[in-house]
Amino acid sequence: MATYDHYKSIPALPAKITKKKKKPKMVAVVDEDNCTGCQVCVPFCPVDCIQPVPGHKYNIPIPPVQIRFNECIGCQICARVCTQLTWDAIDMLPTAQFEAQYKIELSDDIEPAYGKTKS
Ligand code: SF4
Ligand code: SF4
Repeated sequence: MATYDHYKSIPALPAKITKKKKKPKMVAVVDEDNCTGCQVCVPFCPVDCIQPVPGHKYNIPIPPVQIRFNECIGCQICARVCTQLTWDAIDMLPTAQFEAQYKIELSDDIEPAYGKTKS
């Protein structure tokens, strides 16, 4: 295998940014303890829903990233990019499992951006 062969299977950057139209089957979750904050995944997301965690949460110069869960379409591109180019810090969870585990309800809509907290 040539040195740069693994780059061939890296997803393409999105030609344009779109929006979620219905609740996806899977949702991306960043393991913040494992994420370097390199932001390599950010421009690959076709709905532009990956952003740095607000500075006050960790108070470190380069914070990890997080997903605006209710905007994610579950395409898995960020997880592939992170695994292939950087650090393997993104998990794809089935939506029902995500909702039960994090007590967050997702919807067909993109509001609220992080989903609705279940009571
Ligand atoms: S590519 Fe991976 S390590 Fe880098 S910011 Fe994204 S999730 Fe974090
Ligand atoms: S799976 Fe990742 S790249 Fe795809 S929409 Fe969700 S956050 Fe964006």
